[in-house]
Amino acid sequence: MTDSNGAPLDEVRAAVLAAAKAMHRRGLVEGTAGNVSGRVDDGTVVVTPSSLGYEEMTLDDLVVVDLDGEVVAGSRSATSEKGVHLAVLRAYPEVGGVVHCHARYASMYAVAGLPVPACIDEFVVYIGGDVPVGRYHPSGTEGLAEEAARHLADRSAMLMANHGLVVIGRSVDDALHSALVVEHNAHIAWGAQQLGGTVALPAEAVRDFTGVYQFVRQHTWHPRPASTA
Ligand SMILES: [Zn+2]
Repeated sequence: MTDSNGAPLDEVRAAVLAAAKAMHRRGLVEGTAGNVSGRVDDGTVVVTPSSLGYEEMTLDDLVVVDLDGEVVAGSRSATSEKGVHLAVLRAYPEVGGVVHCHARYASMYAVAGLPVPACIDEFVVYIGGDVPVGRYHPSGTEGLAEEAARHLADRSAMLMANHGLVVIGRSVDDALHSALVVEHNAHIAWGAQQLGGTVALPAEAVRDFTGVYQFVRQHTWHPRPASTA
């Protein structure tokens, strides 16, 4: 066991595969784009492979790497964006799952260089506030990995400029759910913009709901104490 938030290997493998297929089925990615990772309780990480369609992907196609990216198990190449996943998992031990996708409305904000505004109160509880846009770095670079991690200290999602979305969660399932929440909110914010503009949430509500997010992340994402594990 480690002091980070991991689950047993078989459980994480099943969750990563299910989330990858759901991400594709729900339209958050096209083709082989996007990737998913989950933290194992021995400190390793299960990641999706590069260049393989989601419909044909099986448990045997997943790759296990250590936090430095060295392959521990699996015969395929790990996703080319593994650097983003590993930088986030190294930075935040409470994170159990990471999803990277190209969801349409969230990506529109990423291309426009605009944060997704937190215009629904429930959104703040799940995500922690507006979804910020990082500085542009090319795919697969260490700069992009560091930029993604830097923005996720106090919220669950960030936009990679001119690219897409990165979302974290207590578990792989939780990260996928938050990715869907971000896309739903981005769609609504975009639509509200066409209707004349979004109305900001009252500052007090944002402060209260941000507090709920921070409390949940600090107190329930962390691994259970050894006495109750
Ligand atoms: Zn991508």
